[in-house]
Amino acid sequence: MIYLDNAATTPVIPAALEAAWPWLTTQFGNPSSTHELGHAADQALEKARSSVATFFGCKASEVVFTSGGTEGDNLAIIGLSLAHPRGRHIISVRTEHEAVLKSVEYLKRVHGFEVSWLPTNHAGEISLEDLRQALREDTTLVTVMVANNEIGTIHPIPEIAELAQKFGALIHTDAVQAVGWMGLNFPLLNVDALTISGHKFGSPKGSGATIIRSRLALEPLIHGGGQEFERRSGTENVAWAVALATALENLSPTNEEFTRVHTLRQQFIETATQNIPEAQLSGSVANCHPAIVGFTFPGLNGETLLLELEQRGIIVSSGSACAAGSDEPSHVLMACGFSEDQARTAVRFSFSHSTTSDELHQAANALRESVETLRQLGRG
Ligand code: PLP
Repeated sequence: MIYLDNAATTPVIPAALEAAWPWLTTQFGNPSSTHELGHAADQALEKARSSVATFFGCKASEVVFTSGGTEGDNLAIIGLSLAHPRGRHIISVRTEHEAVLKSVEYLKRVHGFEVSWLPTNHAGEISLEDLRQALREDTTLVTVMVANNEIGTIHPIPEIAELAQKFGALIHTDAVQAVGWMGLNFPLLNVDALTISGHKFGSPKGSGATIIRSRLALEPLIHGGGQEFERRSGTENVAWAVALATALENLSPTNEEFTRVHTLRQQFIETATQNIPEAQLSGSVANCHPAIVGFTFPGLNGETLLLELEQRGIIVSSGSACAAGSDEPSHVLMACGFSEDQARTAVRFSFSHSTTSDELHQAANALRESVETLRQLGRG
């Protein structure tokens, strides 16, 4: 099996599991308990928090452990917007993950927020001029992701943040797909909040964190014992916090490694489009995630192609993992101006740091064979 669906999830790395194990077994204390077991758990939690803070260049008190990207996006978007009632206007992009889209829609539906959706070009890029025009005196929050999970398009977050701040708006970024692939220094990104999800980089599903600038007011989504600096109540998942921190510590992509995967991506695109001339690359050529490649295959159905590839041992996805299987056309491609029919032809390949040239060679061959088979069968 060649697994090219790393944007959906990744295997847990052994180091993360090993680091987490004691906090599930012998060291099972509740970090709020005042006895020895509790102290040990609390120390482990705070060590994990400091380690996450070191990775992102932020303060430990700015790290809130969550259950993953969906919760983190909800917490930042809803929590910040409700706590900053300077206005009720939010700016976002329709190519965002559902966790962002649905949080924004919730604020609109339940709390009467107005939403401005920034247009994108065919590659999913936004323009700073459109953002400038959308920003208003009463804009509370701008939320734009670092890198798109389906097409890999990268947004210029520091520039977006600078502009948003000129208007006094807060800025959140969903960095779920960017961890391990691009620099994510919290102060340099200049954002107020940033969300990550552990299972995208070798930590278990259900681990995550959101970094929220200290002293910013935040309306919690979960009420209770006041854990996580009153920002997210509930007994902390020490084991998953430790695993997340360990997975981050193990991510040390060198420039060579980054370039290696980027080069593999280019070669894969060239081979795939030579083999299948009608295949179209989706997303941006210039501003692209090194490990995410989206294609559309006119006349074919993405889900059918995915199954055909699976028969040949290649595991990919027809869009985001959440949308996959739902038979819904990719909302990301539709936001980029693709028709519903075109959006149904999407397939995403996403690599890991250990993806090899040989694997991509095999994947490109399997892709060619799969497309030929489906054409012969007349099955789009
Ligand atoms: N944001 C992006 C960009 C994602 O790709 C995902 C997951 O695919 C999420 C948020 C949701 O993260 P989680 O699966 O941890 O809830």
